[in-house]
Amino acid sequence: MVRKNSYTTVIRRLDPLGRIVLPKKYRKKCEMNVKDDVEMYLEGSAICVKKYNTRCKLCGETDNLIEFKGANLCPACVTGIKRLNF
Ligand SMILES: [Zn+2]
Repeated sequence: MVRKNSYTTVIRRLDPLGRIVLPKKYRKKCEMNVKDDVEMYLEGSAICVKKYNTRCKLCGETDNLIEFKGANLCPACVTGIKRLNF
């Protein structure tokens, strides 16, 4: 069941497992695509859902990540690790 009470607010009923479908117009605006990861957190009594951007495991950078043994690393951190000369 979908009820709308304004252009920006959509009211939906949770299914028995607590699930909802995120409105397509919200997903489009937030550039969320099917199979994207999302992160959720509480802000007071609101549940916030946002697109999860993979981050460098060491510094938090989000651009040009390289995956190595399950960890995402940015080029600067990879360069820093190479300089350690084990
Ligand atoms: Zn990094």
